[in-house]
Amino acid sequence: MSSTNPVVGATNPPLGGGAGLGISDGRASFLEVRARHGEPVSDGLDVPTATTRRTGAGLAGLEVTELDRSEKLAMMRSGELGSVHSWELVTAVDGPGTRMTVFLNGCPLRCLYCHNPDTLEMKDGEPVTAEALLARIKRYVPAFTATQGGLTISGGEVLQQPAFAARLLRGAKEMGVHTAIDTSGFLGAAMTDEMIADTDLVLLDIKSGDPDTYLKVTKRQLQPTLDFGRRLARSGLPGGVDHDDPVEVWVRFVLVPGLTDDVENVDIVARYAAELNEIRPGTVTRVEVLAFHNMGVDKWETLGREYELKDTPPPTPELLERVREQFRSRGLTTY
Ligand code: SF4
Repeated sequence: MSSTNPVVGATNPPLGGGAGLGISDGRASFLEVRARHGEPVSDGLDVPTATTRRTGAGLAGLEVTELDRSEKLAMMRSGELGSVHSWELVTAVDGPGTRMTVFLNGCPLRCLYCHNPDTLEMKDGEPVTAEALLARIKRYVPAFTATQGGLTISGGEVLQQPAFAARLLRGAKEMGVHTAIDTSGFLGAAMTDEMIADTDLVLLDIKSGDPDTYLKVTKRQLQPTLDFGRRLARSGLPGGVDHDDPVEVWVRFVLVPGLTDDVENVDIVARYAAELNEIRPGTVTRVEVLAFHNMGVDKWETLGREYELKDTPPPTPELLERVREQFRSRGLTTY
């Protein structure tokens, strides 16, 4: 991820999140959340749910497939098999409604603040078939329908396993499930037009507007992300692959004091998001400014790696408001 920050799962907890970083502030059960919103409550959900970004709840209920190496590689190439870290039910994060967020393993970025360093390598994930995941998704269709929720694929970086992601997106759409991906966009070229057509929402993590700062934060180049966002906007134009039901984009920006908070750096991201709405009005329907926190430090230390931001404080409320106002001043709905 991509971008934000899973916090802790019930089992095998990863810390951060696919796309990065997030805000951790407690959990509520699915039933509690439904009740809070006055919605009918159903039972039968057997995993914890969270109302904040987290890390997955492990692989509960999913069959891990044992195969020899060549079988595994062939199935991964075809997208029948994926390397999965965990999954979790969440509410009010990673897209609208109650969602099943699936964290895939593998990411080409190396963000300084990554809260999920255990999702970075594909080899560290567990082999799970698309069929098994889709069977799990099917169980939650009534909950998704009741809350206008759906499936979110995160990571790690979802587009590091494009064939697997394509199968999940297609299978979910065939069940009428709303689909989202949480991505840095660095591998956007791997997302086919068919995948875009099968995706309702892209959570696009733009980690910096200034290319040099982006490189410092992620160890990668910014340009592929910018190209990807423009392609998403154009896909919804008349004649575009996604014209009938154009993909929506939520821009995510992780605010790190002393690293990404420069006024000009923020404004470049804001101008870019506004540009996507000039290409196709309504492309970017929200900007989420995510406050850095260093909850990932323990995990980095466990992995024997140095966490460079361990002394960086979270942004103050005043700084958060200044940055959000920068986005609002460009006509963007901002949280
Ligand atoms: S390194 Fe990858 S998984 Fe970690 S925050 Fe960055 S994009 Fe997300």
